[in-house]
Amino acid sequence: LWVTFEGGDGTGKTTQATRLETWLREQGRTVVRTREPGGTEVGVLIRDIVLHHRGEVSPRAEALLYAADRAQHVATLVRPALARGEVVIQDRYFDSSVAYQGAGRVLDAEQVRDLSMWATEGALPDLTVLLDLDPATARRRLDAADKPFDRLEAEKSEFHERVRSAFLALAAADPARFLVLDAALPADELAVAVRARLHHVLS
Ligand code: C5P
Ligand code: MG
Repeated sequence: LWVTFEGGDGTGKTTQATRLETWLREQGRTVVRTREPGGTEVGVLIRDIVLHHRGEVSPRAEALLYAADRAQHVATLVRPALARGEVVIQDRYFDSSVAYQGAGRVLDAEQVRDLSMWATEGALPDLTVLLDLDPATARRRLDAADKPFDRLEAEKSEFHERVRSAFLALAAADPARFLVLDAALPADELAVAVRARLHHVLS
């Protein structure tokens, strides 16, 4: 079982991934918890480039760096874990690239997607939970928690609106893979909704 969490910054992906991880471990499952970018040793190096040298990285170079991180991640961590029958819970996957490098940076969404599919040999999660929240609310939440809204730079609000719309369009195009949740709901309610969706997959 492979579950990815998607959504903008401050939508609660990490919180919900942790809730699901805890619950699955209580069910006796072996869980591999990971994230992109930076789920592997090589990925940590790439994460440093994309997070701390963003001003110097061109949009296409950025897309390739995320794709390289993803290729390494899927080949050396995700696929082996799934082959062992373990559960993989992941913070961000290629939908983030379609949203950020595609819609956000205005590269072609199809090309960004194709790049990821090439990088991962077409690996698709069983479930993708999209935590949807308007960027202004997300920013207020992160401000309240004293966390940066954008780990990279203060992007214009239109950037985050484009990212949000791109995530919603991805979900609408593939309802079988996606569960879209209103991230303004309490964390407990969201966790219950995720578990409910997984029930038929797990039994
Ligand atoms: O999810 P996490 O906080 O680790 O993401 C780090 C930053 O990288 C976020 O600010 C997000 O906007 C950015 N990002 C990106 N493109 C991706 C994945 C993440 O721009 N494909
Ligand atoms: Mg997070």
